[in-house]
Amino acid sequence: MDSPNFKMPDLDTFCLLDGLGLTATGQDVTASHGVITYRGIDPDEFCRECGVEGVPRGTVVRRLAYLRVGWRPTILHARVRTYRCIECRHVWRQDMTQAASA
Ligand SMILES: [Zn+2]
Repeated sequence: MDSPNFKMPDLDTFCLLDGLGLTATGQDVTASHGVITYRGIDPDEFCRECGVEGVPRGTVVRRLAYLRVGWRPTILHARVRTYRCIECRHVWRQDMTQAASA
């Protein structure tokens, strides 16, 4: 019988993403290693130069961390959204400093 403390499996909690503004979006697990992809959950769509709402341009992948899950090394890849301001043409990436500094 399961312990009353057991909860549904949650990759965000398992990879220590809780409280970092991140959520897991995929996994690729092989015999030698694993890769977990995730994205930021907080929007960051307003231009840091003029405050106008930017237009999403796509995403870039950034390797952020290694975890050791049991014996298997696991790499965390962040999909970071990029934006461009329609007013001043400033280009920026979604703020991931909270996760990067953890
Ligand atoms: Zn702007």
